[in-house]
Amino acid sequence: MNAETDALRQRIEELEAELDKARLGHTGGGDTLAYIEEMEGRFRAIADTAPVLIWLSGPDKLCYFFNKGWLDFTGRSMEQEVGNGWAEGVHPDDFDRCLAIYVSHFDARKEFSMDYRLRRHDGQYRWISDKGVPRYTTTGTFIGYVGGCMDIHDQIMFSEQLETQVEERTRQLKHSEQFLQSILNTAGNSIASYKPIRNPAGKIMDFRIVYSNEDASGGRTTHGTGIAGKTCREVYPGIFRNGVFEKLVKCVTTGCPDNYQVDVRRNGDIYWFDASIEKLEDSVTVTTRNISEELKSDLKLKDLNRQLKIQNSIFKHSEENANIGSYAWNVTTNELECSDNLYRLIGYQPQEFNPSFEQFLSFLHPDDRHQAIRDGIRAYETKVIVQNTYRVIARNGDVRHFRLSGNFIQEGENHLMIGALQDVTKDGELSDALHKKNMELRRNNEELASFSYVASHDLQEPLRKIRAFSSRIMEKEAQHFSESTKDYFARIIAASVRMQKLIEALLSYSGTSGVNFKFVEVDITSIVDEVKSDLEELITEKDATVEVEQLPVLPVIPVQFHQLLQNLIGNGIKYSSPDRRPVVRVTHEIVQDENGQGPFCRLSVTDNGIGFDQRYENRIFDLFQRLHGKNEYEGTGIGLAICKKIAQNHHGYILAEGKPGVGSVFHVYIPTTLAQY
Ligand code: ADP
Repeated sequence: MNAETDALRQRIEELEAELDKARLGHTGGGDTLAYIEEMEGRFRAIADTAPVLIWLSGPDKLCYFFNKGWLDFTGRSMEQEVGNGWAEGVHPDDFDRCLAIYVSHFDARKEFSMDYRLRRHDGQYRWISDKGVPRYTTTGTFIGYVGGCMDIHDQIMFSEQLETQVEERTRQLKHSEQFLQSILNTAGNSIASYKPIRNPAGKIMDFRIVYSNEDASGGRTTHGTGIAGKTCREVYPGIFRNGVFEKLVKCVTTGCPDNYQVDVRRNGDIYWFDASIEKLEDSVTVTTRNISEELKSDLKLKDLNRQLKIQNSIFKHSEENANIGSYAWNVTTNELECSDNLYRLIGYQPQEFNPSFEQFLSFLHPDDRHQAIRDGIRAYETKVIVQNTYRVIARNGDVRHFRLSGNFIQEGENHLMIGALQDVTKDGELSDALHKKNMELRRNNEELASFSYVASHDLQEPLRKIRAFSSRIMEKEAQHFSESTKDYFARIIAASVRMQKLIEALLSYSGTSGVNFKFVEVDITSIVDEVKSDLEELITEKDATVEVEQLPVLPVIPVQFHQLLQNLIGNGIKYSSPDRRPVVRVTHEIVQDENGQGPFCRLSVTDNGIGFDQRYENRIFDLFQRLHGKNEYEGTGIGLAICKKIAQNHHGYILAEGKPGVGSVFHVYIPTTLAQY
C-alpha cells in the first residue's frame, strides 16, 4: 500500500510541477488561467479518486486541501478541516507528539512519517500512518507539504493481537516447561539428551550432554549439577565399561529404543537406576529412574514374607506341640476361622468343615454351654481377656477339657474375638496324679516320722539294755570269763556304742531338713567360742589350737550353725596328722562367687591334718561316705552330709579342698543379708 501511496504522491508532484510550469509559462493569459484551473481540477480529481487520505499544506504550515478520501473518512467538510480544523480529529493522546514531529520536520524541510489515531466519521479512532513530503516548485521554491495517509488500524490491531497471542503462547510454553521441569524434578527421574561426537570417519566416539534436568534438580538424581555441555567420558566414564555406551550408539544408529539397569556406588552406598533410551533426531534421550527404594522395599517385602513363613511354621509346630488351636471370630459377620490344629484337637481333619459359632457351641458339653455364652458376653462388654475351661465332646465321643482364652479387638467396622484353645485334659490327669503322689509322700513322711520316733525311742531302748547288761556282766562276771569271751563282750559294748552314735547322727541329719527354723542375726565368733568350749576335751586330748579371727554377724539358724561349725572344727582336729600338733583356723572373707552372685560371707575352716585326695571333694559330702578307716578315725560318715544340708538351709553351699599330708580347707558360703534369702 505504501508503494501505491508513493506512486500517487509521485503523480501529484508531477501534476504540481506541470501546474507550476503552466503558471510560469503563461502568466496573465486567459488561456493560461484556464489551463491552470484545468490542471488543478485534474489534480483534485486524481487525489479524490485515490483510495488514500491526502492533505496539502502551504508554506505557512496550514492545510488547505483534503481529498475526498480524507473527508469521507472523517465525515467532515473541507471548510471544517482546512487550517487547523483537522487537529480536532486527532486523538488527544497523540496530538502533541504528532504536532512536534510535523513542526520539526516542516522547519527542516524533511520527510516524516508518523502513526496516530484519527477519529472516523462513526466516532471510532483508527490508527493512521501518515507520510509527509516537502513540496517545491521546479525552480526550487518551497511551497508546503503533501501528505498521504493509510488506515493501518486493522493491521495494528492484528499485530497487537498477534503480539498478545505470542506473549500468551510464550507464557504458556514457559509455564509448561516449568511444569514439565517440576514433574521431572519431583519424579526423581533424570532426563538427558546426548549428541554423538563422531571422528572424521563418522564413527561415534563419545556423546555430548546437551541437556540434563539434573542441573535443575540440584543434583539429587545421579551426578550433580553443571553437567550440560560436558562429554559422557568426563561425567559418566563408567558407561564405556558397562556396555551402556554401545547401547547408546546402537540406539542412534538403528533408531531402536532400548532400556537397561545400572548400579552406581556413591559414598559407600549402592543406588540402582532403570534407564530407557530413545533416539530423537541425531541425539539420544536418556530417561533414568532411581529404583533403589523400590528394590529395597521389594527386598524388605521378600524378607518380611520369609519371616512370616518361618513364624507361621513355628506357630503351627508350637500349636501342635502345645496342644493349642487358635481362632478368629468376626462377631459382626459371624465368620469363624480356625487353625488346622483346632480341628485336629476335636478329632477332625484340618478345615474338614466350615466352622461357625453355633457349630462351636454344639461341640461344648451341654452343662458348659451357658457358662461359655456368659463368659463371651462378659468379654465383649468389658473388653477384658476371659479365660475359662470347658468340656468339649470330641468326634469320637471323648470328653476333653479345653482352656479357652479370647480377646476382643476392633478392626474398622468389624469386632473380632481372637484367641486360643488349649487341650488341658492331660493337665487335669497330671494334676490328679500329682495329687495322688503328694498324698503318698505325706503318708511316707508320716511313716518316716514314726520311724524316727521308733528309732529314737524303741530302738535306743533295747540298745541301751544291751550296753547296760553287757557292761554289768563285764563288771561282775569278768573274772569267770576266758580272755576271748571278755574280748567278745568288749566288742559287743563298742558295737552298741557305735550303733547308738549312728542312730543319734541319723536323727540329727533328719532333724536338719526341717524348714521351720528361725533366722537370727548372730555374731559367728560367739558360736565358734561355744563350739570350742563343747570340744574342750578333744582339744586338750589332741593338744590342738583353734585360732579364730573376728567373724561377722550373719543371719543364721543358731542351732544348725553351731552344729555346722562343730562338725568342721571337730573334723579338723580329728583328722590331724600324727606328726604335728593340730592347728585349726577359722577365717572369713566377703566374696562374689564364680557365677557372679553374692555378696557371700565365705567362712573357711583350715587345718594342718592328713588332708584328702581332691578327687573326693564331692563324695565326702554324701551320707555314710568315709575316706579313712573306722579303726584309725572313728566316725559315722554323716557329719559332712549334715554340714551340706545346713549350708543349703542357709541358701548357701559348701566346698572342700584337700591336699594329702598337708591339710584341708572347708569353705562355707552364706549370704550376708536376709534380703538375699
Ligand atoms: P566322719 O564321721 O567319718 O568324720 P564326715 O562326714 O564328717 O564323717 O566326713 C566324711 C569323711 O571325709 C571322713 O570319713 C574323712 O575321710 C573325710 N574328712 C572329713 N573331714 C576331714 C578333714 N578335715 N581332713 C581330712 N579328711 C576329712
